[in-house]
Amino acid sequence: MQNDIQKILLSKEELAEKTTALGKEITADYKGKNPLVVGILKGSILFMADLLKEIDTHVEMDFMAVSSYGNEMVSSGEVKILKDLDTNVVGRDILIVEDIIDSGRTLAYLADLFKYRQAKSVKIVTLLDKPEGRVVDITADYVGFNVPNEFVVGYGLDYAERYRNLPYIGVLKPEIYEEK
Ligand code: 5GP
Ligand code: MG
Ligand code: MG
Repeated sequence: MQNDIQKILLSKEELAEKTTALGKEITADYKGKNPLVVGILKGSILFMADLLKEIDTHVEMDFMAVSSYGNEMVSSGEVKILKDLDTNVVGRDILIVEDIIDSGRTLAYLADLFKYRQAKSVKIVTLLDKPEGRVVDITADYVGFNVPNEFVVGYGLDYAERYRNLPYIGVLKPEIYEEK
């Protein structure tokens, strides 16, 4: 699997260091609150697991699955809920955990949805941000790293459901896409 990687953008160590820093910031901002941390499946789960261990305040967790890319590398522009929350969000402080923001459509949709459902507050933490890809005006409250407008995989992010288990963020060799 690691043979398929052309270059590593963010090493395991860089990811760990950033996750610790984000956890500290979130701990300070949510002191005395009991946020509902909402992971967006499946891309966010490695980041979320590591981030939660660095947050030292009471939290609850839940998950949502939405469709955006499927197996393709181009955003469809349409967001569909595949799995909804199990938790009622009325009056809750929501912290959405995302792997990456590209067009911003997924998060704009989810932030609006939680506000519509009467959450008390909605914040976003994303591991990666691709500002050049933005179509909808949305900014995350906590950003791990800005990345260039390249398709990245690893640490939760997939290409055709593969590479999520890479311990780093990298770019695939072009021939991997050509094989499809
Ligand atoms: P958006 O709605 O912001 O365009 O898309 C966000 C979603 O698209 C992300 O949660 C992620 O699943 C997918 N995505 C966007 N850019 C990349 C990328 O470079 N690599 C991978 N693997 N997925 C991406
Ligand atoms: Mg995602
Ligand atoms: Mg994907």
